[in-house]
Amino acid sequence: MQPELLAWLLSPAALGVLGLMIGSFLNVVIHRKPIMLERDWAGDAARYLQDDASMGRVLGAHSKVAAQLAQAGRTLEAEVDALPALSLSRPRSHCPHCGHAIAWHENMPVLGWLRLRGRCSQCRARISPRYPVVEGLTGALFAAVAWKFGPTPAAAVYSLAGAVLIAAALIDLDTTLLPDDLTLPLLGLGVLAAWLQWIPVSLPDAALGALFGYFSLWAVARTYKWIRHVDGMAEGDFKLLAGLGALLGWQALPSIILLSSAVGAAVGIFLIVARGHQRNVPIPFGPYLAGGGVAALFFGASLNTLWIPH
Ligand SMILES: [Zn+2]
Repeated sequence: MQPELLAWLLSPAALGVLGLMIGSFLNVVIHRKPIMLERDWAGDAARYLQDDASMGRVLGAHSKVAAQLAQAGRTLEAEVDALPALSLSRPRSHCPHCGHAIAWHENMPVLGWLRLRGRCSQCRARISPRYPVVEGLTGALFAAVAWKFGPTPAAAVYSLAGAVLIAAALIDLDTTLLPDDLTLPLLGLGVLAAWLQWIPVSLPDAALGALFGYFSLWAVARTYKWIRHVDGMAEGDFKLLAGLGALLGWQALPSIILLSSAVGAAVGIFLIVARGHQRNVPIPFGPYLAGGGVAALFFGASLNTLWIPH
């Protein structure tokens, strides 16, 4: 490819526009990915309930409940199989209230929502402002990455990682799920990009970042469980921090952990005190980790001065 063309493709303006369009796709991912996962799990559970051999080992060979569970499993499997197909590409985007298929000009990032003034063109049902916010945020993040890293492979790698982080953070916020399909590719991308020297992180630093990222949160979660006897964090959080460690190097981890814990604790205390949030209902940690990761990407060296004595 021509160097001039590549420089243009990775310019803040071009990457910003690409980010707006990717943000539109992220809205679909954020909405559908958890439903697709939960459908898969419901199907798995249905088949598991019908597994006589396994149920026999769990409940004992003469359990009377096993037959009822198998019947429930058959009912659940039939219900799940009867659902209309759902993937990231199908069905086309439509209004959840009236089913109106959204035309391409209504689907334009940010502009479509503004022109519709946040309402469906057919039934006037409200469309959440979160859609244009996600699109604008993704566009701004892509442009900022292009501005910071210039026309380099690092700009492409960190834009892609930023898009995955936005999806992961919002899915976690909505459902407290952090899909492996999002966290593990971050880890792979970080190690691969470090190996190819596409990012300013050496391969050993990326590998140690993945390792320390995973096990530092694992140790925190283990300690918390030992003290409080409940799970404070889930494995998805460990994998997300492993991905950030791979992308940014192990040196970024203390800043990410300090920042995300401080902001997470402040918001958690606010929710408990001001909103009556139940103390034992888990607060998703993914959005804070993702935010800490983005902060470390842009302000890494200056963030380190927060915790390194100088
Ligand atoms: Zn409608």
